[in-house]
Amino acid sequence: MNYKSTRDTKNKFFTSAEVIKKGLADDGGLFVPESIPTLTSNDIEKLAKLDYIKRAADILSRFLSDYTYDELLADCEKAYCEKSFPGGVAPLVNVTDNLYSLELWHGPTAAFKDMALQIMPRLLVRALKKTGETRTALILVATSGDTGKAALEGYRDVDGVKIMVFYPVDGVSRVQKLQMATQEGNNVNVCAIEGNFDDAQTGVKKIFADRNFAEKLNEKGYFLSSANSINWGRLAPQIIYYVSAYCDLLNEGKIKIGDKINVCVPTGNFGNIFAAYIAKLMGLPIDKLICASNVNNILTDFLRTGTYDRNRKFHVTMSPSMDILISSNLERLLYFVAGSEKTAAYMKSLNETGAYTVDPEDLEKIKESFLGYYTDEKATAACIKEDLTENSYLHDTHTAVAFDAARQYIKNNGDKTPMIIDSTASPYKFAADVYKSLSDKEPTDALAALDELRELTNTDIPYPLEGIAKRKINFTKIVKASNMPEAVMDYLNS
Ligand SMILES: *Cc1c(COP(=O)(O)O)cnc(C)c1O
Repeated sequence: MNYKSTRDTKNKFFTSAEVIKKGLADDGGLFVPESIPTLTSNDIEKLAKLDYIKRAADILSRFLSDYTYDELLADCEKAYCEKSFPGGVAPLVNVTDNLYSLELWHGPTAAFKDMALQIMPRLLVRALKKTGETRTALILVATSGDTGKAALEGYRDVDGVKIMVFYPVDGVSRVQKLQMATQEGNNVNVCAIEGNFDDAQTGVKKIFADRNFAEKLNEKGYFLSSANSINWGRLAPQIIYYVSAYCDLLNEGKIKIGDKINVCVPTGNFGNIFAAYIAKLMGLPIDKLICASNVNNILTDFLRTGTYDRNRKFHVTMSPSMDILISSNLERLLYFVAGSEKTAAYMKSLNETGAYTVDPEDLEKIKESFLGYYTDEKATAACIKEDLTENSYLHDTHTAVAFDAARQYIKNNGDKTPMIIDSTASPYKFAADVYKSLSDKEPTDALAALDELRELTNTDIPYPLEGIAKRKINFTKIVKASNMPEAVMDYLNS
């Protein structure tokens, strides 16, 4: 199985190890597999008899053909072990009627980013060996919250890698800041920057583009690598849980083999929902893919009109991981429906004007699988309250957006097909907003909200957040965005 760039019309191919090491293609496109492996009914029935770890190794081995099955199995055993996922890896909970919550937040940082970032570092380390790399990989991350912590946990104490995370000093929640500042591990560093997320992101991009800096790193025995969500090494592991959820429904007798299901995903960068689309292309019986957005509803508009236009107001919401105007992974969908030449043209238009419109036949193909719905802040809060009161189920803010979108779809279409809805974060990760949604009261403060939410709902704080206020602070450094390169060098020299 080889990979090529979404924008490449000349079909230059790369191996899976090269793709995981490189992250982004040289022409700015994203890597996609040259073909999609098939998953037959027979395969699904066999997978249904296995646990998550073995399902994972099987699915990954279909895409990562220069890794052996045994290597992948060993990595999956470490990544998805019970110690890291004490609540189960991706349990499926029936909330009401045909609506199932696929809980993807039982990992070490209480957000769904763990599903990919617990395995990707292991894939990268093998990729370095397989490509003959002798230098240490230096992972630089700019984060607006969830990715930074999940990457730190994933890469901590991994041989041959160091990781440094930059976050905007006033741009992340109290819980998120504490999660990062208390990070442990012998190869990690965290640095706040004065400025917003864009300043952090621009700073990291500048470092990646700076050849002098690369040369200095090279002399020290390092090269730069990224943990960004456009890396195929983050996408492939996300295909697994859709297959696994289908197997669980089979095992519980909720569906028969071949029956269709629908999937609804709270979407930001379009990575998670795109992984579901790949599962569908493989042959998993998925009918509709519901793309759920908050009031930053650029994807809803795109899926309804075929026009993607980022020239619009940016809203700060209580589902911040979906506050995004550029959904990078959408480019991969464009490639699969329209091919490389048109994808390159659409992306050129996006770069030059901030917008593009796909051809009517491309929109038709997209609409065969995808529908877009969005939910405002009031409806999000109402959904959190309603599902706790009526169904004894507690959502985080992102998951609530998706449940509301799923119900809008069902109301419009009367579709009774079982719907798998991704639950992407523990409610405690966004405790203050969840508490406010339930009680119409402000919590005492952002950290007290954890205990106040526990008392109000009689649920458990997940282990990664338990006692977080009392943990030792390891990182306090704050620098100007312009001083990020020096901060990197200080870390490497320390
Ligand atoms: C990252 C994230 C999302 C968005 O996922 P994408 O793959 O970027 O679409 C949704 N919810 C939470 C809690 C997240 O951390």
